[in-house]
Amino acid sequence: MKSNPKNFKFKHSLGQNFIVDEFLLEDIADESGITKDDFVLEIGPGNGALTRCLCDRAKKVVAIEIDKSLIPLLKSNLKDYENVSIINADFMELDFNIILNEFPAPRAHIKVVANLPYYITSPIINILLQNPYVSEMTLMVQKEVAERIVATPGGKDYGILTLACNYFADTEMIMVVSKDCFFPKPKVDSAVVHFKKHPVGADLRRGEFHEPDYDQLFKLIKASFAQRRKKLLNSLTNAGYDKDTVAHALSELGFDENVRAENLSLDDYKHLLTFFI
Ligand code: SAM
Repeated sequence: MKSNPKNFKFKHSLGQNFIVDEFLLEDIADESGITKDDFVLEIGPGNGALTRCLCDRAKKVVAIEIDKSLIPLLKSNLKDYENVSIINADFMELDFNIILNEFPAPRAHIKVVANLPYYITSPIINILLQNPYVSEMTLMVQKEVAERIVATPGGKDYGILTLACNYFADTEMIMVVSKDCFFPKPKVDSAVVHFKKHPVGADLRRGEFHEPDYDQLFKLIKASFAQRRKKLLNSLTNAGYDKDTVAHALSELGFDENVRAENLSLDDYKHLLTFFI
């Protein structure tokens, strides 16, 4: 396999840090758990090194690459595979129906595997979390982002990204990856995170809370974390929530008035919201 096109200039602006460790490529594909029954979406295939490992395991792979200059190399490196479609597009702008049409029906339960371009990691994760066709994601991200995704209440990494991920999925950091495994070498280490999306309506079936409206819930969560070092009571009051109601709700939830945004779990926030609707 050719690694790079002739005179290829890596584009820092597109987050082009390619994996050069063959064992790592196989490990990521193994850890994603994909089988010959699976439809796989890869965002940013680069030179196709990970794509080949995915094609070896999946029923069908669709790979979306923004950089036109990589397409000839990708096609050449993947020419032996009949189960791959390459689309030259910006994933952020692409109509998801174009991706869906590349998979034979039924198309639910798409698994995403990607070494994400670092400059749009969070927006891509948000899109994938909210996309009902995506059931699992195995994503390489910067280690610092991975720590925020899998954080637990009370720590400095715990925040809006953690809660957004928890809302839609169970998350697990599968491996930490040294910056030496990439070319060009990035400044920081990376990590692979696995996301298993909750089935729609899972909370209702567990008989816990009525699944709250995402927008209302995250308006409350964003207001809570807007002044993260302040007491939650003050942050929410400053954001326009009624002080007495917040104080009453926090006491009902078993917290004292000094509690901060990072101390509440997702279920605590869902419960807190019920006092305002
Ligand atoms: N998959 C390869 C690997 O693991 O070695 C390359 C991963 S590299 C970190 C990120 C890739 O995403 C690059 O090939 C880059 O051109 C591509 N990319 C960047 N922004 C993109 C976007 N908006 N849509 C699709 N691909 C994008």
